[in-house]
Amino acid sequence: MQTLTLRRPDDWHLHLRDGAMLAGVIGDSSRHFARAIIMPNLVPPVVTVANARAYRQRILDVLPAGDRFEPLMTLYLTEGSSPDDIEEGFRSGLVTAVKLYPAGATTNSHGGVRDFDKAMPALERMAKIGMPLCVHGEVTTPEVDIFDREAVFIETVLDPLRQRLPDLKVTMEHVTTSDGVDYIQTSAGNLAGTITTHHLVINRNAILVGGIRPHYYCLPVAKRESHRLALRKAATSGDPRFFLGTDSAPHVDPLKECGCGCAGIYTSINTMSCLAHVFEQEGALDRLEAFASLNGPAWYGLAPNEETITMVRRDRPVAFPEKIETGAGPVTVFDPMFPLHWEVA
Ligand SMILES: [Zn+2]
Repeated sequence: MQTLTLRRPDDWHLHLRDGAMLAGVIGDSSRHFARAIIMPNLVPPVVTVANARAYRQRILDVLPAGDRFEPLMTLYLTEGSSPDDIEEGFRSGLVTAVKLYPAGATTNSHGGVRDFDKAMPALERMAKIGMPLCVHGEVTTPEVDIFDREAVFIETVLDPLRQRLPDLKVTMEHVTTSDGVDYIQTSAGNLAGTITTHHLVINRNAILVGGIRPHYYCLPVAKRESHRLALRKAATSGDPRFFLGTDSAPHVDPLKECGCGCAGIYTSINTMSCLAHVFEQEGALDRLEAFASLNGPAWYGLAPNEETITMVRRDRPVAFPEKIETGAGPVTVFDPMFPLHWEVA
């Protein structure tokens, strides 16, 4: 029987939502992951340190007994964000990063940034104190094709911002294109990227071929195959600038399976099994630990977890539920469209 032991992984981009949904999904993350960067796009969003403190407590309140899980909080950057509040949150250790959503980029992002000049005081302060900015890297201008939005964002927003604030540490989240991979690899420093589980598995055909499949729809949307291959290469390379951020983003099925379905794929429950499969296919099982457990903490200036997990390769496929039931309703689990043989023991 093949086994693989690695430091306990962390998830550097996670949506836990709130209320009944939070209570229904938290255990799927805390079972395998020790820490996660928690996205702030609630309704209303987490914009102040006080909001983050209260949200963190709501997460801890529903954590399954016995699980040790550290939510790493983020603040939602707005044009009115207070540099002093951000700095206080960072220095106190409560807030790990600030999240930039271009207005309208994804679920609950209408309060995001339109005019970067207005957010500049906060960004300048972050550059000064070494606080990372997590970026949803897509432009939202209607003229730009949805499949080009990441590449255009790099050219028209991210690169000018980084030239303006070279000391600002930027995490380019959920990289989905070879353009994103190239940009990170050719940058001198202060830039890293997270890659989701599902973008290593699906390309855009999964959403559109043979009928429209809402459970493969997420933002940034999956791209063509050449991009998926570039992501796999980056993730399995061991390059410390790439690490796991699942972007696991639950929505109840009625909000996915309708005339205007929400963006988001739920992968917390089977991410480690999917990743082991991908890394095995790439002949890189020995680099899964770097991607899932080492590169992320190094980037955020944290120690890797002391505990380990052991993954076991079963002869028979491992069964995951098709859906999980939450107090908010059913949530469909990501189906990688191949049998999963690895499981966390
Ligand atoms: Zn996200």
